[in-house]
Amino acid sequence: MTTRTRVAVVGGGAVGLTTAYDLATRGAHVEVFDRGAFGSGSTERAAGIVYDAYAEDVDVALAERAIERFREFSGERDFRLTPAPYLWFTTDGGASAAAIREQAERMRHHGREVELVESDDIRREFPVLRVDDIAVGAIARTAGVADPSAYVALLVRKVREAGATLHSETPASVALDPPRVNDTAYDAVVVTAGAWTKRVLADVAVSVPLRPYRVQALVAGGPSVPIFYDADEEYYVRPHPEGLLAGDGVTDGEADPDDFAEATDDWFREETRRRLRRRLVNADVPLSRSWAGVCAGTPDNDPLLGELADGLYIGAGWGGHGFMRAPALGERLALQVLGERDGVGPFDPTRFGAGDA
Ligand SMILES: Cc1cc2nc3c(=O)[nH]c(=O)nc-3n(C[C@H](O)[C@H](O)[C@H](O)COP(=O)(O)OP(=O)(O)OC[C@H]3O[C@@H](n4cnc5c(N)ncnc54)[C@H](O)[C@@H]3O)c2cc1C
Repeated sequence: MTTRTRVAVVGGGAVGLTTAYDLATRGAHVEVFDRGAFGSGSTERAAGIVYDAYAEDVDVALAERAIERFREFSGERDFRLTPAPYLWFTTDGGASAAAIREQAERMRHHGREVELVESDDIRREFPVLRVDDIAVGAIARTAGVADPSAYVALLVRKVREAGATLHSETPASVALDPPRVNDTAYDAVVVTAGAWTKRVLADVAVSVPLRPYRVQALVAGGPSVPIFYDADEEYYVRPHPEGLLAGDGVTDGEADPDDFAEATDDWFREETRRRLRRRLVNADVPLSRSWAGVCAGTPDNDPLLGELADGLYIGAGWGGHGFMRAPALGERLALQVLGERDGVGPFDPTRFGAGDA
C-alpha cells in the first residue's frame, strides 16, 4: 500500500490507539472509531503491569519492543513507566519449580535480565514478603507499572497530532468488498475491539475463536511491594500510589462482554485480602475499591494479529497481557497494514479452522 492509504480502526483501546498512531505517523489517512470513550473497554480496567517474562522468541521480541516504546513515551504528558522488579514464585518444588527454572533459562537465552532466587534471596531483597514456604522464584529486572488511563490520554493526543480523526461514542459497523465502516469505504479496516471483536466481525460473517472471560482486581492500602505473581494461587500484586493493586485470573466460563457483573464477587475480595495478609508482613490491606473487566483469549493462547480477509485486519486475543504489549502490537499491526512487515507467524489469524471458531 502507498502513503495516504485510508484506514479505519475499530476500537480505541491501548492497541487500536497505538495502531492508529503508527499508521498516521507513516502517512496513512486514519479514522478511529470507539463506541464509547477511548480506553473505556478493558484498557482502563487493566492493572498496568508491564514485563518481559516470556519464553517464546516472538513474545520476548514484542515485550522488549513494547518496553522500549513505553520508555520513549515516559515523561510525555502524565504518562510514566515506573520501573519495578517482577517476582514470580512457587511453593511447589516439583513441576511448577521446573517450569519457573525453564522459563528463566529461556529468558536468559533471549538476553533478558532475569535471576533465579530462593526464599533467603527474596527475604533479603523484599523483607515485606513472608517467604518461608517458597521453593523457587525468578526476578525479571526489566519490568514496571504504568497507568493505562494515562497511556490512553497520551495516545489520543498523539493520534490527533499525527493527523488522524477520532470518533468516540460512535459504534462501528463493518462490511466487506470493499472494506467499509458505517458505509464508508477504506483501503483497510482494522478491528481492535478487544473482547467485543467477535461481535464486530459477526457483521461480516467472519468467525474467530475468541473467548471473552471475566477477571477481577482491587486496590487496597498496604506496604510498598514489588510486582509479584504467586504461581500456585494464581494472583498478582503490584505497587500502587494508594498502597497495592491485586487481581487474579479467570472466573469459570465464557463472559458476555455486554452483560457481565462489573462489581467484584465477595469471595474474590475476601480471598485476595486473606492471601495478602498471609503473604505480607504486618499488613491489614484495607480495601479501597474493586472492579471486574473482561479479557479475550484464544484456544492456543496466542493472539490473532494480521489480515483475516481482503483488507480486513484483526488485533485481539491478548488474554491478560494486552496492555503491556500494546506499544509493540499496535506497531506490528500498522506495519502489516502498510505492507512494510510480514505477519507474526504464530499469530496468523487464519490459523484456526472454521470448526474452532
Ligand atoms: C482487571 C484487569 C486487569 C488487567 N491487567 C493487565 C495488566 O496488568 N497488564 C496487561 O498487559 N493487561 C492487563 N489486562 C488486559 C488488558 O486490559 C487488555 O489485554 C487490553 O486492554 C486490551 O486492549 P485492546 O485495545 O485490545 O482492547 P480494549 O481496551 O477492550 O478496547 C476495545 C475497544 O473497542 C470498543 N468497541 C467495541 N465494539 C465496538 C464497535 N462496534 N464500534 C466501535 N468500538 C467498539 C470498546 O468500546 C473498547 O474501547 C487486564 C484486564 C483486566 C480486565
